Amino acid sequence: VSEWQSKNVTVAGLGVSGISAARALAGLGASVTVVDGGSSEAHRERAASLEGDGISVRLGDAETLPDGTDLVVTSPGWKPSSPLFAAAAAAGVDVVGDVEIAWRLRGPDAAPWLAITGTNGKTTTTRMLASILEAAGLRTAAVGNIGTPIVDVVLSEEPYDVLAVELSSYQLHWAPSLRAHSAAVLNLAPDHLDWHGSMEAYAADKGRVYEGNRIACVYNVADKVTEDLVREADVEEGCRAVGFTLNAPAPSQLGVVDGILVDRAFVPDRQKQAQELAEISDVQPPAPHNIANALAAAALARAFGVQATAVRDGLRAFRPDAHRIEHVADVAEVAYVDDSKATNTHAAEASLASYESIVWIAGGLAKGATFDELVTKSAKRLRGAVLIGADRELIREALARHAPEVPVVDLDRTDTGAMSEAVRRAAELARPGDTVLMAPACASMDMFTNYNKRGEAFADAVRELGSTSA
Ligand code: ADP
Repeated sequence: VSEWQSKNVTVAGLGVSGISAARALAGLGASVTVVDGGSSEAHRERAASLEGDGISVRLGDAETLPDGTDLVVTSPGWKPSSPLFAAAAAAGVDVVGDVEIAWRLRGPDAAPWLAITGTNGKTTTTRMLASILEAAGLRTAAVGNIGTPIVDVVLSEEPYDVLAVELSSYQLHWAPSLRAHSAAVLNLAPDHLDWHGSMEAYAADKGRVYEGNRIACVYNVADKVTEDLVREADVEEGCRAVGFTLNAPAPSQLGVVDGILVDRAFVPDRQKQAQELAEISDVQPPAPHNIANALAAAALARAFGVQATAVRDGLRAFRPDAHRIEHVADVAEVAYVDDSKATNTHAAEASLASYESIVWIAGGLAKGATFDELVTKSAKRLRGAVLIGADRELIREALARHAPEVPVVDLDRTDTGAMSEAVRRAAELARPGDTVLMAPACASMDMFTNYNKRGEAFADAVRELGSTSA
């Protein structure tokens, strides 16, 4: 604690994680200044509340380093190229994120961390893992990129046995001394490249999660880059590489045999080749990408010594979060599914692979993505497509190139009411037994505040449809 007493800490960003870090560090005796480029009413209100607690706030200047700064604590949205960090580098001052602070603040007997990162499936897998750990009778929480800010969790008096920690590539970038018990990289596809600068830099930040692992580095057998990252990582002696696969597992892997999730990595009984964990039907939803998530969660739990029965019970108890392949309703024998969280092409590809005959609602902000691969892989499953949002033209062109036979409705609208029309038009294209799937492969901010609002608009439109067709 005393180590913080004499420190001048500058916190970048007056958001949820910045405020939590500022309060925590001020509580430990540091003198804290929060800087933020904004100066709106909302900013000033938050500033006033912090200032009431003895924390300085500087609004309207996010670029210059306050005099005397010893350490900069950054927030997820700030790019590494931000001028404030250049100023810190020039002054020889370290820049770290909230995860690094949490890691440094945890006590000597603190709970080990089981860490999860990847382009898609992080939240789902972290929650599955927490559910499995709970089923094993362990005191745990799903933290990191979800739920309570991780600094608050680490400083709380709660006696945790183990934490299930979701980490974004941003958080990993700024967490140099983090050493997890075991960690998983679920998959890697281009995303957030504007933040990281390149795919290589993005992969390298993800790979940081394996540094110093003690028991297992869990990788995706179908995604070679994740295995390469394990090989490049500097781990504790005896730490093992453990793969997960949707096929029959080799030794040191978890996989699937005849509809059963089996473990060939952590088999204590030498007489046995493999340990059965659960059935595919224990996983909700039982889509291929989600079975992969379940296997990754199981691998981390097994690395922590959890019994097979607890893996099964934990998976059975798990319920997916809203807007992630969420079945909204059936109307006229057509299923309506909300995967608003599919905000990039890699995620949309996974959900399109989960259904046979689909009317696809897509579009929004493409964030620099291309759609050729997604459309090529999904073409044979498409009954039709309804396009909305700012960058729908890119998807329309990809459909014209690779799936010219698929009927496309191009809604030339970006107002919030567009979703309701999109659902009606999708209903016209669908036949009994089909799935209308809203998996936009794009961010939502051109039309909605966030992906939650987009999902709610879809669900409202489906209910409207149900009441008019009833
Ligand atoms: P994250 O926290 O990484 O954003 P989520 O668990 O919230 O991931 O899932 C986001 C979306 O990604 C889901 O709606 C689904 O469409 C897709 N998804 C989930 N798991 C995977 C996976 N293992 N591979 C590819 N896509 C996935």
